[in-house]
Amino acid sequence: MFSHIIAPVLNGVVAVSGENKLGVLTYHRIGASYNQNFMDEHLFEQQLIWLKRYFNPVSLAEGLVLQQQGKLPKRAVAITIDDGYLDSYTKIFPLLKKHKITATFFISTSGLKSGFLWDELISSTILTLAVNVSELSFDGDKYPLTTYNQRLSCSKLIIEKVKYCSLQERERLIKLLLKQIGQPELCHQFLDEEQIITLHQAGMGIGAHTVNHPILACEDNATAKAEMLKSKRQLEDIIGKPVDFIAYPNGKKNIDFNEKHQELAKECGFKAAFSSDWGCINKSDDPFYFKRFTPWDATEAKFSLRLALNFSGLYTRLFN
Ligand SMILES: [Zn+2]
Repeated sequence: MFSHIIAPVLNGVVAVSGENKLGVLTYHRIGASYNQNFMDEHLFEQQLIWLKRYFNPVSLAEGLVLQQQGKLPKRAVAITIDDGYLDSYTKIFPLLKKHKITATFFISTSGLKSGFLWDELISSTILTLAVNVSELSFDGDKYPLTTYNQRLSCSKLIIEKVKYCSLQERERLIKLLLKQIGQPELCHQFLDEEQIITLHQAGMGIGAHTVNHPILACEDNATAKAEMLKSKRQLEDIIGKPVDFIAYPNGKKNIDFNEKHQELAKECGFKAAFSSDWGCINKSDDPFYFKRFTPWDATEAKFSLRLALNFSGLYTRLFN
């Protein structure tokens, strides 16, 4: 409805920033839930509509090739979806098809078998504890569990505690937790092989996101490389095609990964690796440290303007 006002403003902002830039947006999960990784389904669809109205959605692979050839359309954007949860297939995929947009799905392959990743295991377990469980003592701390909000805050605090541990230590702590509160019966919430094949055959990109979603910087180099390479091979076996891209778990440079992991990703045979640091991709950027950015706004003008500002580089200079 505001397109006659928004379009010229966006054109102006993007014109200042120069051409041949690719904006890569990151999403995780769709649905009403308890953490910031979830986006409301209606808002997701709305954002797809705004992306089509004011920007030029391209697939990630196509966008990177066009950029090297200097042929990217203005305001080119590519969509990426991290982790590999089931709503990638049941909610996101139908909306992408409906709006004829191609996205790339970065999948942590341990979820294929277990049905969820480690943080979902912790939060689902705590949130679904029997109502008479009123307190949890864990690793030297006590957490009240009487209300839903207390349970939510407990699961967040434990996830934060476990997140920056090595895989080995993480596993030890989760075992300790489950020993105390019992092994939950959680339903399978992750993509399966057939769904990955269907996504791939529909033209969607399939990318790696390690096996166990570790903080790479908390692992030794051999483990970090094995995490990246094994997820690549597993996904290649499923789709029968090379998997060229990886997204670093958590993805903040010098916190979650560093230069060494960029080298390791290259050694694994990836062509590009994506962080979660804010920015857009320029032709001369290091392909093993590509930046992404997702505006979170629920209004057309704010969403579009924030994304346009990201292209100009102004956004990260002003707010990062
Ligand atoms: Zn992730």
